[in-house]
Amino acid sequence: MRALRRLDDPDREHVPQRPSWTCRDCHDDWPCRTARTQLPAQFRLDPLALFVYLGICLYEATEDLYKLHPNPGPDPAALHARFLGWVPERRLVVGALARRFAAGYPTRPPPGTEAAGPTGSTEP
Ligand SMILES: [Zn+2]
Repeated sequence: MRALRRLDDPDREHVPQRPSWTCRDCHDDWPCRTARTQLPAQFRLDPLALFVYLGICLYEATEDLYKLHPNPGPDPAALHARFLGWVPERRLVVGALARRFAAGYPTRPPPGTEAAGPTGSTEP
């Protein structure tokens, strides 16, 4: 028998349910508040992959939601804000660059930081 999970269980999956694009767990519009917290953490090392993933979701959600509600269809600007507009892109990119730089990947230090790399040099 499957155990019931607490509402604040961090392991609950807040994933989209199609074609409504509501959260399978909390039933809010997806990405829900919890998903917006979990997704940046899941993609912390590769924020570009998060943008690609959310862009694909936006494309598919637009298609699904127009089929469900063709007249009037969903507002494109609202969909863009819902799927991509909330992403803290600068924070994610700077954080990923800092983690890569600290791990010795060949990259420049993130802008605005004075982090020294493995060689102690911040020169390109
Ligand atoms: Zn949710």
